[in-house]
Amino acid sequence: MKVQIDLVYQTGIILYTKNDILDDSVISIGSSIMANSDGRHDKNIKGLWYCTDTDDELGDGCIACSLCYSEAPDFFREDDDGYAYVIKQPETEEEIQSCQEQLDGCPVDSIGNNSE
Ligand code: SF4
Repeated sequence: MKVQIDLVYQTGIILYTKNDILDDSVISIGSSIMANSDGRHDKNIKGLWYCTDTDDELGDGCIACSLCYSEAPDFFREDDDGYAYVIKQPETEEEIQSCQEQLDGCPVDSIGNNSE
């Protein structure tokens, strides 16, 4: 099966772009990229959702693009250096959807929801 995608990044490098048509074996590799739950920003409020710190040991941390805290300011905030952290855990379906949109849009996979 061939699938058209948006962008797939890994450690800040664009692997594929919107015009690439990939087969599903490649898509499965791309979709396995997720935030490093061990590299969470110190200011994240406790809970499932988090942002990774820019000093993430894998080099996958926030690049301060401003997307998440501009689009969902009730849940994401910037620190003094512009890096994002989670200020409120989403609870309702609508709130989760809003955070999911930021997770999906983050260019460096710095938003995660896979850890307590
Ligand atoms: S979208 Fe990602 S890279 Fe951009 S500010 Fe938020 S966590 Fe950082």
